[in-house]
Amino acid sequence: MAGSGWFGRFREGLAKTRQALAAQLDGLLGREIDESFYDDLEEALLAADLGVQATETVVARLRARARSGELGAAVRTPEGLRQALAEVVLAALGEPAPLRLEPPPAGIVVLGVNGAGKTTTIGKLAHRLRADGRRVIVAAADTFRAAAIDQLAVWTDRAGVELVRHAEGSDPAAVVYDAAQAARARHADVLIVDTAGRLHTKTNLLEELKKLDRVLRRELPGAPIESLLVLDATTGQNGIAQARQFAATLPLTGVVLTKLDGTARGGIAVAIADELKLPVRLVGFGEGMDDLQPFDPKAFVEALLA
Ligand code: GDP
Repeated sequence: MAGSGWFGRFREGLAKTRQALAAQLDGLLGREIDESFYDDLEEALLAADLGVQATETVVARLRARARSGELGAAVRTPEGLRQALAEVVLAALGEPAPLRLEPPPAGIVVLGVNGAGKTTTIGKLAHRLRADGRRVIVAAADTFRAAAIDQLAVWTDRAGVELVRHAEGSDPAAVVYDAAQAARARHADVLIVDTAGRLHTKTNLLEELKKLDRVLRRELPGAPIESLLVLDATTGQNGIAQARQFAATLPLTGVVLTKLDGTARGGIAVAIADELKLPVRLVGFGEGMDDLQPFDPKAFVEALLA
């Protein structure tokens, strides 16, 4: 885990958030633990995009520590303050929640608005699963634009996995049906389904998503199905609003948080866990094939605060 190649890149990806947070935390060192201390701490956490609710959770836990007398000594040193904060942030993030892929074939429906990073995530995930020895099929069920299908084909070629595709404009549920048949016939371990991401407020899209979800469950009876929402970390609190809208259509089982490398507001991961009560299952931190990892709360806190 920590110390291996990916952690270095992950840590690098979180550099902006870490540096911004560290700069703010330095201003808290050695201070009296009074209301203005907590105000400034809240400001630092809000700036990192933990959101109001998660910030309140974290600060309440630190207050509880302060009452028990633990915090006073801790905040005298940068290490002490970061350590205390790391512990309460970790508690807010909860346990690691890896993808449920057993028994095969498992279905993974990938949702999200255009530009969030769905295509890239599917490519990286297919690559990862294949490297783990799993047979992967991808369904190009975003049939809205031919370019989207072609872009997905570039990634599945790169990952060396099969893509099931129909012509532009065809019924996404029909693509899912064919892909599920292919998954069964070829004893695939995982079927990943790309979906259209144009305006998620359009009812026809929502109906389309529900239909393809029904078809997937019918054709892979008893299979574990993940419905993952891809959220762009750079969109911050907007992402939380998006997640609420998607969750109103299909029950989500988790979030993929992308572009952590492009933002100083990576604290959004804590808001997702604390506010939406959704596990962050995977994180993307770059455009390379290996820049996707299962979300490891300990590694995240370490990369953010260590
Ligand atoms: P889609 O419309 O949801 O399928 O989004 P794409 O997968 O096409 O991604 C949109 C843009 O975001 C592309 O330029 C990707 O290279 C970029 N992107 C996706 N994930 C990441 C990431 O983790 N880090 C960075 N820096 N860029 C990313």
